[in-house]
Amino acid sequence: MEKTDIRVYEFNIFKKEENLVHGVFSRSGGTSTGSFDSLNIGMNSGDEKSAIFNNRKLIIKKMGMKPLVFLNQEHGDQIKILKKEDNDFSLIFEPGREIYTADAIISDMTGVFLVIQVADCQAVMLYDAQRKVIANVHSGWRGSIKNIIGKCLDKMVEEFNCQTGNIKACISPSLGPCCAQFINYKDEIPQNLWQYKIQDTEYFDFWQMSADQLLEKGVKENHIENMNICTKCNTREFYSYRAQKFTGRFACVISMV
Ligand SMILES: [Zn+2]
Repeated sequence: MEKTDIRVYEFNIFKKEENLVHGVFSRSGGTSTGSFDSLNIGMNSGDEKSAIFNNRKLIIKKMGMKPLVFLNQEHGDQIKILKKEDNDFSLIFEPGREIYTADAIISDMTGVFLVIQVADCQAVMLYDAQRKVIANVHSGWRGSIKNIIGKCLDKMVEEFNCQTGNIKACISPSLGPCCAQFINYKDEIPQNLWQYKIQDTEYFDFWQMSADQLLEKGVKENHIENMNICTKCNTREFYSYRAQKFTGRFACVISMV
């Protein structure tokens, strides 16, 4: 079997931040086989658990043996707040276990990696360098409809006194407008969001929707970066649920040092 390396993608605006460590892991370099080939971290993907544990350990190793916090994501709008002052010792950073059920997580802790797992959905990573706060949001089309991005920004303001004008936001590889076809959009997507439908098609621009949800809350345009990589168009590098159904999840991680 050909041995491949772990490949990590980074955002330009986050690379400039000296106290920030982050990365979008491609699907290469892991131990899963078949349609899960190879760095699958999705516990509910149907892949072998031992391979998933191994892959999570590979990511921990790559990130310098720091604790990684995985979420039990359920396309909802629950937001987990992880404050250093809470001294939450229930944090058992066991690579195989999701501790919290939520679709977004915010923290002011250093040395802890917040992980979102995706295959077409967006991971939206947020950083406020002034307040020293990070967040990671899972926003698929259901999350987009619930505006979990906006709700997470509200929580950062409420819980950590962040100013949205200081927050930088990065959008992971995800389903692009080229592939986000919603045949049943009249039943699935509320009418006030049909403005994101590309004219005379059934395709939606969820990238623009996310950018607008960030801008509406006061995030500056030059503080938003989208990799503009469509997962369905790039299945050699990333997992895509739409392209393959029986597939893995790739990892998007963010941490402060
Ligand atoms: Zn595409």
